Parts: sequence; structure tokens; C-alpha cells
Amino acid sequence: MTVQPRCFALLPCAGSGLRAGAGVPKQYRPVAGVPMVRHTLAAFAAVARIARVLVVLAPGDGALDVADAAVSIAHCGGATRAESVFNGLNALLAQGAAGYDWVLVHDAARCLVTQALIDALIDACLPDAVGGLLALPLADTLKQADGGGRAVATIDRAGKWLAQTPQMFRLGLLRDALAARAASGFAGITDEASAVEAAGYQPLLVRGSAHNLKVTYPEDFALAEAVLRSRHA
Ligand code: C5P
Repeated sequence: MTVQPRCFALLPCAGSGLRAGAGVPKQYRPVAGVPMVRHTLAAFAAVARIARVLVVLAPGDGALDVADAAVSIAHCGGATRAESVFNGLNALLAQGAAGYDWVLVHDAARCLVTQALIDALIDACLPDAVGGLLALPLADTLKQADGGGRAVATIDRAGKWLAQTPQMFRLGLLRDALAARAASGFAGITDEASAVEAAGYQPLLVRGSAHNLKVTYPEDFALAEAVLRSRHA
């Protein structure tokens, strides 16, 4: 009998969100009247193929409680996003997930992700040997800056993509790829794909959407709100 791999989602939600301005961590800041992370959770709850969602919070963070039986919380956030993801993967394995299961890692702060985008990533990655990520071909001209805020070079944008999330890999492969970077404090690991690449694999680039932005700067909140309101208009 062949065992079908399941799909889990892991939402790192343990950042302090300093670039978003003062106050509560950005994942809890309201967008269209609801804490940002609730929009993210709603998108994943709508995807039938996701068996369970694990939200990784900072130790002692009591700001989020969820009534949905398909969502669990682990207070195992680390000093960096990569460490939070690594700890979350270990929690999923301890809770019964298998190394051959898939995991979709998604920033809690990308609250504009949609069921359609998540389904598109799953469709593209399920038959793939490695897995992959949502990403967008770079549309703007890319500049190299000096330390003083001046452009010193223009970098060829051909073949350059902007990585988004979710990023979908086999749980065991991703856990091992991150484990190999743990001793260096996950230096240079800014997303899951960078760890998988460092382990010698080539993740699949699946076209995402410009709307799937990571809410980071104060002005991003109004933009996210406008997009959400336009969907419900
Ligand atoms: O700060 P940044 O925008 O890169 O964070 C991306 C996501 O990673 C956010 O959802 C944030 O809560 C999470 N994160 C985390 N643990 C950290 C830092 C960030 O879970 N130590």
C-alpha cells in the first residue's frame, strides 16, 4: 500500500516586526479590522488539501488563540525567521508528521495570499522531486548601492525573481537543509529555498502575484487593506 503524503502548513509568526513601526508585532496589527495573521489563517483554512496548520509564536506570546481544530500553536519561535521555521518543523515531526509529508511555509505577514495561489503552488509542487516557491520575475531595474545611498551599478535583471511564500518542500528535506545551517546561526538563510539550494537542490519557481506582498513598512498596511476591501466589494 502506498502512503499518500499529507500537506502541512507552517506559519512563522514570532517576529517583532520593527520595520512596520512602533507598537504591537506587525502580524497582530489590524488590517481591514482584523489582526493580519487572521487573514493569513483564513486563506489556508480554505485549502482542502492542507491537513493542519501550525503557527509558530514567540515563547510567552499569548496574543493568538484559535478555535479551529485544524490549527495548532507552538511557542517555539527563535531569534531569526529560519530558527522559528526549524523549531516549527521539529514540532510538526514530534506531533506525528512524517519526513515524506509536504510542508508549506508561509510568512504570517503575507496576509494577502489567496486560496488560489496556495492551490497553484501545491499543483505545481506535488509532482516535483524537490518542491518550490511562489516568486515573481523582477520587473524593476535593480541597483547596487554604496554605503552612502548612491547607486554604483545596475544589475542585470534578466533571470532574477523575487521570492515570496508559501514555499513547499518535503518536511524531512527542509528540516535537514536547515539543520545543516544551524551551527552557523542560519547565516544567509532568508527563506526556505535558500537552505534547500545550499543543500544542492534547485527549487521550482512558481509564478505568484504582486498582491502577495509581505506587509513590512508602515505604508504597506493601507495597501493591504485596500486589496482586501476590493476583494469583498
Ligand atoms: O521580519 P520579516 O518580515 O522577515 O518576517 C517574516 C515572517 O517571519 C513574519 O511572519 C514574522 O513573524 C516571522 N518571524 C519569525 N521569527 C523571527 C522573525 C520573523 O517567526 N525570529
